[in-house]
Amino acid sequence: MRVDAWSLRAPRAPLVAESRVEFPRAGEVLVRVRGCAVRASDLAIFSGRIPVPIDLPLTLGNEISGNVVAAGRGAEHWRGHDVVIPSALPCGECAACNCGRSAMCPRTVIPGRNVHGGFATHVRVPARGLCLVPFLGDKASNPGGLDLATLALLSGTVATPYQAIARSGLVEGDVAIFVGLGIHGLLGVQIAVARGAHVVALDPDPVRLERAGELGAELPLLIDDTAGKPVAEHVDDFASERGCPPWRVRIYETCEKQRCRELAFGLLTAGRTLAVVGNRLGSVSPPVPDLATHDATVFGSSGCAPERYAELLQLALSGKLALKSLVEVRSLASVQHRFQDLAHRPGFRRVVLVPE
Ligand SMILES: [Zn+2]
Repeated sequence: MRVDAWSLRAPRAPLVAESRVEFPRAGEVLVRVRGCAVRASDLAIFSGRIPVPIDLPLTLGNEISGNVVAAGRGAEHWRGHDVVIPSALPCGECAACNCGRSAMCPRTVIPGRNVHGGFATHVRVPARGLCLVPFLGDKASNPGGLDLATLALLSGTVATPYQAIARSGLVEGDVAIFVGLGIHGLLGVQIAVARGAHVVALDPDPVRLERAGELGAELPLLIDDTAGKPVAEHVDDFASERGCPPWRVRIYETCEKQRCRELAFGLLTAGRTLAVVGNRLGSVSPPVPDLATHDATVFGSSGCAPERYAELLQLALSGKLALKSLVEVRSLASVQHRFQDLAHRPGFRRVVLVPE
């Protein structure tokens, strides 16, 4: 089947239109792209900050939703279905996958990184791990009226904080502290609120804090202006007033800045859990406290295991995440103009490219 795509031939060079013919092999499907979000990682590959493990040209685009139009042997049952493609597709068979550590899978397929991605009319991916999307015209199961293009954001933008929150075991009545309110932090606030947690949101930007408050954060706190009281004391008082013991306080660091990292680790007192969320494109030095004395837990989390996407999709379809306001739809051909602008949009939005 003919695939029209926009591909990277050299770092920082404008993406070029090209056509190729793709047929799904055994265990694979060909997905007609309905939406592909532009992520910071796309820009990092474009600019050469993230090296790609295969020869260029490469079609970028990692967060994809679409409709299965062809399937190889063993994947025929996917034909005709709408899907969200997880941003990373582990093999499901290796030692890491069998131990529940699929993030360590050496055979992970990452669209737009080690295979062609979604800045194209179609993308060929493994069928294993795809997230089946139900009929979106059913108002009972999709009260918010989300469309398939918008659901592309589930692939990585929503999945990244979701995985960290799920892995931390956050439940109703816990305290969730988000340090850094970029798009991952603001989605994390919503996911935590949906789980019934009491949410603290920390950021130096008053606009972001206001948005976190609108989304349900009970304590949006400007880290530069805490009325003479240290952030840690505000957080301790907040947890204490809600009767929440230290082992039910979870901290999510979703910001790449050294300052946020230091603040997050500074809040890691006895019994608490800290998740460092999302890939880091730069290096930061964590000021790690005495974890043994604190009986504290720290873990890193990027991406999301495919088996979590069904519950993630249900959460999105329930209308508890403000996804529509995050999406700015553009035609796929927009990628030929100032690609950098597409990766950084004001108002926490993500550009979702839609083939004509
Ligand atoms: Zn594997």
